Amino acid sequence: MSAAAYDADVLIAGAGVAGLACGAALADAGFKVVVLERDALPGGRAASWPDLVTGDVVDIGPHVLTSEHRNFLALLRRCGTEGEVCWQSQPLITLLDAGRRIPVPGSRLPPPLHGLPALPKVLRCLGVRDLLSNARVAWHAARLDEERLQALDELDAMRYLRGLGVSDRSIEWFWTSATMALLNVPLQQCSAAALMRVFRLMQGRSGYCFGFPRIPLASLYAPGCRARIEAAGGRVMLRSPVARVHVRERRFQAFELEDGSLLHAPAAVLALPPQLLRNGFVTAPWPAASRAAHAFEPSRYVSVYLWLDRPVARENFWARAWATRDLHTDFYVLSNFRHEARGTLLACNSIHVRLAWEWSDDEIVQRTLQEVADFAPEAAQARLVHARVHRIPMAVPCPLPGTESARLPAETPFAGLWLAGDWTRTALPASMESAARSAALAAEGVAAALGRPLQLALPVPETTGVMALLRRLPASHRRLV
Ligand SMILES: Cc1cc2nc3c(=O)[nH]c(=O)nc-3n(C[C@H](O)[C@H](O)[C@H](O)COP(=O)(O)OP(=O)(O)OC[C@H]3O[C@@H](n4cnc5c(N)ncnc54)[C@H](O)[C@@H]3O)c2cc1C
Repeated sequence: MSAAAYDADVLIAGAGVAGLACGAALADAGFKVVVLERDALPGGRAASWPDLVTGDVVDIGPHVLTSEHRNFLALLRRCGTEGEVCWQSQPLITLLDAGRRIPVPGSRLPPPLHGLPALPKVLRCLGVRDLLSNARVAWHAARLDEERLQALDELDAMRYLRGLGVSDRSIEWFWTSATMALLNVPLQQCSAAALMRVFRLMQGRSGYCFGFPRIPLASLYAPGCRARIEAAGGRVMLRSPVARVHVRERRFQAFELEDGSLLHAPAAVLALPPQLLRNGFVTAPWPAASRAAHAFEPSRYVSVYLWLDRPVARENFWARAWATRDLHTDFYVLSNFRHEARGTLLACNSIHVRLAWEWSDDEIVQRTLQEVADFAPEAAQARLVHARVHRIPMAVPCPLPGTESARLPAETPFAGLWLAGDWTRTALPASMESAARSAALAAEGVAAALGRPLQLALPVPETTGVMALLRRLPASHRRLV
């Protein structure tokens, strides 16, 4: 059946986490949903596919979940795959810093005491004076809330930290690596608001941990969402790009497909990357959307998969303290936790890639092997059975200064049209969790407009204990930069 002949309550453009999660939630509420996806595979930036040589299913690049991915975990519950995540409570993470392995312990102590178990290790790398240079930034972060964060958006994070007296060594050792790993952008190009949103939760919450999919990433959610959409009479149509969105008299009319056919429905969701919303994609003027389309620059990744002939590390993952000369930041031994992986399968991410984008696959693989061997010397003796290099034009949109205010809410100026996607206004950094939360917010909007209100979106985590008390101090007691 052609798309045009298919009659739906809700149309969704994009079958990434956001589009599929939104479709599944609406289908579960009894709506007939048609999802239109440009590519031959669902999953977008969280897709998986079989490697043609080994037959192993690999992801676009390795992903981690955190126990704070509340909306994404709710999606996995909906899909029946919540048990397919391998959680690691200890250590929180293993760092490779100047050739030393540093297991950073996780902690359930109430914040800020949860930092104590890691303190001796931090002091060995940083020194008391450099550690104390973070006191003002910690104090400011404790008193921020989502609303006050927005005031920092125009500042770059480097200027913000220096303005609060953070030492060069501390910036080099902690902030540079943390910003690259958590926000996928160099410190001097990061919005201070985006960085402080993450940091205030790191210092104001405890007991969090990382998790790794035991099955291919897309298998966690794509088949489950598709099954729910189809069970309610809808469908997911692959290789079906939406060419334009027709709007008349400030109301959604139809999706136009590449062959010029029009697909009508009472409601629609655009679950697309921000760059798609350039002028002309929606037939009516929408200045905020074209601002967003230009505000976000992509953070490029190179992800590498290596198949080795022997085990090289017992750790599930480690992170390398970031330095400009290095290629990768985070490394995962998938064969330690993935059901299907045979032999030793290792994957890693090179974040916000510049020069290495142009390197040959061979150069990238050789450099990757060296960096793996820096942590796991056994890798130097191992035989490389096979390698795969993925160049990913956008892993996430960069949280540049000013982009927090460019993030758009689920509601659009047009009746019947909603937005979803990791980059929309979710109060979360761009991630699978942000995509899942955006999906819940958009689905709530659609369901209410179609007369069947739903409550789906789970709140973002907040600081707890003493840190929550500090946050709630009356405004007159606070001074921000
Ligand atoms: C290598 C890598 C590592 C990452 N690591 C992590 C991690 O560890 N933890 C984490 O939480 N997140 C991570 N992310 C980010 C996470 O994958 C994304 O934030 C999330 O998948 C975004 O989902 P989305 O649905 O918002 O967007 P997308 O996945 O981009 O979905 C948009 C969909 O729209 C489709 N599309 C585009 N144009 C059209 C059109 N005209 N018509 C129809 N369809 C169209 C696209 O093909 C795509 O399928 C990582 C991403 C990458 C690439």
